[in-house]
Amino acid sequence: SPKGAVITVVGSGLIGRSWAMVFLSGGYKVKLYDSQPGQASKAITEIRTQVLELQEAQMLRGKLSASEQLALLSSHDDLSQALEGAFFVQECVYEDLETKQAVFQAVERHVGEGVVLSSSTSCLMPSSVFSLVQNRTRCLVAHPVNPPYYVRLVELVPHPETLHVVMDTARDLMTEVGQAPVCLRKEIDGFALNRVQYAIIAECWRLVKDDIISVKDIDLVMSEGLGMRYAFIGPIETMHLNAPEGLEDYLTRYRFGMSRVLSSFGPVPEFDGEAAARISKEICELIPGDQEHLSARRERRDQLLMELAKLKK
Ligand code: NAD
Repeated sequence: SPKGAVITVVGSGLIGRSWAMVFLSGGYKVKLYDSQPGQASKAITEIRTQVLELQEAQMLRGKLSASEQLALLSSHDDLSQALEGAFFVQECVYEDLETKQAVFQAVERHVGEGVVLSSSTSCLMPSSVFSLVQNRTRCLVAHPVNPPYYVRLVELVPHPETLHVVMDTARDLMTEVGQAPVCLRKEIDGFALNRVQYAIIAECWRLVKDDIISVKDIDLVMSEGLGMRYAFIGPIETMHLNAPEGLEDYLTRYRFGMSRVLSSFGPVPEFDGEAAARISKEICELIPGDQEHLSARRERRDQLLMELAKLKK
């Protein structure tokens, strides 16, 4: 139970601040550390503003009020102090292998054997990130999706030596604080989310590159078509529901068609050269690439995600 339990967040950038807010909403004490002096206390100021705004908008997560949550938060410029009393450490430093390896090596010197060490890495394998840790049975990746406060998925990825009980602890913790954890049984490059995302990007890219469809229209295929149902059912359930007798019936009807189409996909696109220039020009005609336009669209995205998160509740 969260009462008095401490989670240390190492690195107080975009993702570190989001994790802090998620853990606070679950009633955990959060100790925020950053290697850049003053950065963690700046992060607290920002979190305070956000948490108060969320309360104002009635979007604050958890059972505690904004001030109760903020009272659980502290910032530290000293790593050993930040780690004191923690049972779980969530690392959120730069996406750089050597930096992360060094961070976990340092963290391990200050914590007991039973403390769970978790990395937010998007693209690095657990076997690389934790290679300098002595006891790797308590290590895992907990990969969030931006912004984690509204997009609840967390991919939990074990190191080859990670104990089942550690994966269970992480899954229970994530569920308790209101995230939606999924567990990979072993590590794989890209984890699950990015493997699926890149498959989608590759085919969308190819269709535009080969002049089959416009940038605007391929994005509509997702936002007005597939994305509508993917907000609440996945591709396997989609197949199961899309034939009168369920999944096997779907396969009888459609597997040859699926294989035929899939065989026509061709090699992995290069994502550069003339095609990249053309696709970039086309999206910039719809949404100019300057900061003003991009921020406006990001705000719209986060606002809509917030509404969607409400609906999904
Ligand atoms: P960021 O640049 O916003 O923040 C990184 C923070 O880490 C900075 O405040 C920096 O001062 C601090 N830092 C750097 N070295 C440190 C060290 N040795 N010890 C302590 N603190 C240190 O980056 P971010 O976007 O928050 O990303 C953090 C991690 O989360 C990365 O691994 C990234 O891949 C992952 N991630 C990011 C996203 C995203 O959309 N931004 C999504 C999922 C996962």
